[in-house]
Amino acid sequence: MPRPLRHGPRHWVNYHGTESAELGDLIELLNSEREGGRNVLHEVATDVLALLQDASRSGARLRPLGAGWSPSPIAIVQGGWLVETRRINRCFGLTAQDVVRGTDPSRLMLVQAGATVDEVNDCAEELGLSLRTGGASNGQTWAGACATGTHGSVLDAGGIQDHIRALQVVTPSGIFWVEPHRPVMSPEFVAATGSTIFRDDDVFAACQVAVGAMGFITAMVIECVPIYMVRNIQKRARIEREDISRLAEGDFRGFSRAFGLNEEPHFLQVILNPFAPFEKDALLRMLYLRDFDPAIPPPPRPLTGAGYDALTLIGKAMAGIDLLRADILQLAMRAGYAVQRDIHDPEAVATWGHTTEPHNPIANLFNGSVTMQRSDLERAFDPLIEAFLSGGGGTVVTLRFMQRAAGLLAPARFDSNVVIDFDGPRSDVSHRSYRAVVAKLDALGIRFTRHWGKTNDLDAVRVARDYGDDYRRFRVAQRRLMPDSADIAVFRSDPLVHLGLID
Ligand SMILES: Cc1cc2nc3c(=O)[nH]c(=O)nc-3n(C[C@H](O)[C@H](O)[C@H](O)COP(=O)(O)OP(=O)(O)OC[C@H]3O[C@@H](n4cnc5c(N)ncnc54)[C@H](O)[C@@H]3O)c2cc1C
Repeated sequence: MPRPLRHGPRHWVNYHGTESAELGDLIELLNSEREGGRNVLHEVATDVLALLQDASRSGARLRPLGAGWSPSPIAIVQGGWLVETRRINRCFGLTAQDVVRGTDPSRLMLVQAGATVDEVNDCAEELGLSLRTGGASNGQTWAGACATGTHGSVLDAGGIQDHIRALQVVTPSGIFWVEPHRPVMSPEFVAATGSTIFRDDDVFAACQVAVGAMGFITAMVIECVPIYMVRNIQKRARIEREDISRLAEGDFRGFSRAFGLNEEPHFLQVILNPFAPFEKDALLRMLYLRDFDPAIPPPPRPLTGAGYDALTLIGKAMAGIDLLRADILQLAMRAGYAVQRDIHDPEAVATWGHTTEPHNPIANLFNGSVTMQRSDLERAFDPLIEAFLSGGGGTVVTLRFMQRAAGLLAPARFDSNVVIDFDGPRSDVSHRSYRAVVAKLDALGIRFTRHWGKTNDLDAVRVARDYGDDYRRFRVAQRRLMPDSADIAVFRSDPLVHLGLID
């Protein structure tokens, strides 16, 4: 069995060059080559257990790393051991022997923590399945994306973590199979993975959006839906203030009727030019559910997809520009949506997996977001844009919509959510603008949360306030999983202490 590779002390920089650390060791997990998911999970978890116990004995701090995409410092551990998971990336279908009686295995998949969203999409399609939702891009690892509550703009779904039905979690004290009280996997399956069953609703819900504070996640069982396709409409259009009201009311069908097809959209995203939201074109993307048709070939990548994220659009182009920003931004937005697909254009239909995009590193970008109750968009919109511009503004402002997501620390914690992304060059101006937005929402008395993986200016006091009783339950659940404080200490990092997620 291949052992983890230990690369030794080094300077480490995250994927997008926004955070760095002096590491005591960079460790790379290698995958088991054994047949069958149970054996693979057992071997890898045993490796991780040995590493955690080694760290505990030597007083080292250890941090699991996904793809290192988070622009915030949550994957950083100064002086500690960073453990790369990208090579533990296998996915398996499940059978009736793997699950408890009464559970349908046909929509379930076993996914190792380091599989990227792209790899999970591919595997799901091979099994005749699709993810229900996901973020804009697909290079994150499954565990990393869930850890921060990654989401897109599927209107009737929550976050990517909503797919999780069970997790294998390793702490220095053992290998645990975490499920809610209603069991999913058979005792034989769990035993063969070397895990001890741990059934607890709150521990499960804490692990769904764990922010790296609930042990080392090595694998998950996820539930997908039968494979489907989406038709893509993406176009530039001039929206009006009333359209914001319509979105705030949740009249997505009405919005779609005005700008796209006269049917319920599956996904709806609006990218605005904050310097002139109603005088310049917005970029709209609407996706509509279609039956899977195997005769439709996969599109050339990157597709058309669900997956636009505003970061890809403009990058550093706006840095240092003060004059004519509305016009310059509009030019950049036009370039970003060079290919338009309106209702009369030839149909662009693809599977869900082919709507998300890979991503090159983007140095020097700022991104931050706020999530609030959708209906609050009505009164928040104008003051929020004004506040953003008062700091100098960034680049585009993106509106995405989603339902309440699973997980005690899911930022999408309102019944129906709007997520507003503020992107820009990595500069004081972007940061100042984001802070002005946050301050304005507070002044208006509007409740909101922030993305764990993006720049967020959060601290322990604020996290406790934003998540209230769910935060308290998270910390209690953490203690239930790791009653020995020496176990929690292995996962301690300055950013997680700052957030109040580890003492
Ligand atoms: C270009 C780009 C586009 C993005 N688009 C979106 C989007 O559309 N929607 C959205 O919501 N977000 C988006 N994000 C944010 C991104 O999805 C999150 O930051 C995500 O967490 C990154 O996943 P990762 O695998 O890189 O995790 P990392 O950044 O490596 O880690 C994130 C956290 O998870 C922990 N972790 C990772 N693996 C494990 C494990 N196996 N066990 C325990 N803890 C673990 C880490 O310790 C860390 O605390 C985007 C980010 C970028 C850079």
